[in-house]
Amino acid sequence: MIILVVNCGSSSLKYQLINMDNEEVMAKGLVEKIGLADSQLTHKWSGQKKVIQQAIPDHHVAVKLVLDILTDPQCGVIKSMDAIDAVGHRVVHGGEAFSKSTLITDEVMQALEKCSAYAPLHNPPNIVGINACKAIMPNVPQVAVFDTAFHQTMPAKAFMYGLPYELYQKDGIRRYGFHGTSHRYVAGEVAKVMGVPVEKLRIINCHLGNGSSLCAIKYGKSVDTTMGFTPLAGVLMGTRCGDIDPAIVTTIMEKRHLSTKDMDKLVNKESGVLGISGVSSDFRDLGDAAAKGNKRAQLALDMFHYQVRKEIGAFAAAMGGVDVITFTAGVGENGIEDRAAICQGLEFLGAKLDPERNNVRGKDALISTDDSTVKIYVIPTNEEIMIARDTKDIVSK
Ligand code: ADP
Repeated sequence: MIILVVNCGSSSLKYQLINMDNEEVMAKGLVEKIGLADSQLTHKWSGQKKVIQQAIPDHHVAVKLVLDILTDPQCGVIKSMDAIDAVGHRVVHGGEAFSKSTLITDEVMQALEKCSAYAPLHNPPNIVGINACKAIMPNVPQVAVFDTAFHQTMPAKAFMYGLPYELYQKDGIRRYGFHGTSHRYVAGEVAKVMGVPVEKLRIINCHLGNGSSLCAIKYGKSVDTTMGFTPLAGVLMGTRCGDIDPAIVTTIMEKRHLSTKDMDKLVNKESGVLGISGVSSDFRDLGDAAAKGNKRAQLALDMFHYQVRKEIGAFAAAMGGVDVITFTAGVGENGIEDRAAICQGLEFLGAKLDPERNNVRGKDALISTDDSTVKIYVIPTNEEIMIARDTKDIVSK
C-alpha cells in the first residue's frame, strides 16, 4: 500500500510518499512560499534532489505539481497517480469532536470547519489542502490525523481553565494540547527501544523545536500537556511567548493601543527566545551568540532550559513519578548542550544524564547513566510515519 502524507501550512505543503509494505519513504519534499512571487518545490528521492522554481499561486496548484513530480519519468517514483492508495493529512485542531484519526467524509469536513474557529492560523490551510487533494484525486480515500487527538484522554482537572464554566460549554475554551502525533509516536518508540509495554511506563516527552511542548504520558495515555487552547501556551518557544499572566495582554493592548491582531502577532511572532534575545528564534544562532558573550541570548536559553526543567518536575508530580524522559524534535534531538542544561538539577528525581552518552544527535539513544533510576532517551520524532500508519489502518478496515 502506497500512502501520500500531506502537511499543509498557510504558505507551504510538505509531503512524503511512503510504501507501507516496508515503511520506506519513496520520495519527499516541500512546496514553499505558495502565493508569493518566489515559490518553489524541492523534491527528494533515492538520494537525489530537484528544485523547481515557478509561480505556485495556491494549494491546488501545489498538489498538482507534487503529483506531477511524483509521476515524472525522470524524478518520479510511481508510474501514475493511481498507484496512490490513500492520502493522510495532518490536521492541527480536531477539537473535542475527534479523539482519533478519521476517514474524511462530508460530515467530517463540516466538523473540521467548526474547529477552524479554535485554530484560525492552522486549520484553514489544512482544509484547503484536503479540498485540493479531494478535487484532484476524487476516488482516493483521505484520512485526517489530528495534533489534538492524543490529548483527548486528559482528565477535566488537567484540561479545564479557571474561568467561568460556560466559556467551556458555549465556546469550547479548554486545554486541547498539540504535537499529539509526535508525543504518541515517541511514547511507542521508546517503549519499543526499552522492550517494555507502553502501558507500564510513565513517560515525560519533551518535544522541543521551533514550537515546543511537553507531555505527561501515563501508561500510554496523555494525562497532561503544556500547550493549551492554542499552541501558544506552555514553555517559551522560538517566537511564541508561552505561559504569561493573562493580565499582561490587556495591559499592553490598552497602553500601546494595540488591536487584537497586533497583540496576536506580538505574542506569536515577536516573543519567545527571539523576543528575549533580539538575536534569533533559532537555537543554533542563540548558542553561537551566547558563546560570544551575548547576555540576552544566554538569558533566552536559560529561561528555556529552566522552564522545560520546571515542567518535567510538574509532570513527574502529576503522574506520581516518572520512568522515562524523552527528548525529540529539532532541539531535543540535536541540542546536546540544551539537554545537558535542562537535566542539570534533575538528579533529585533520579534522572542522571551521562555526558558522554549525551554526545549524540538525531538517533535513538539512551543518554542517562546506568545508575539513573529514571531513563533518559533521545528519540527522533516521525509524525509522517504515524500519519501513514493511521491512514493505512483506517483504509484497510
Ligand atoms: P519545527 O517546530 O518548526 O518543526 P524543528 O523541530 O525542526 O522545528 O526544530 C527547529 C529548531 O531545532 C531550531 O531552533 C534549530 O535551531 C534547532 N536545532 C536544529 N539543529 C540543532 C542543533 N544541532 N543544536 C541545537 N538546536 C538545533
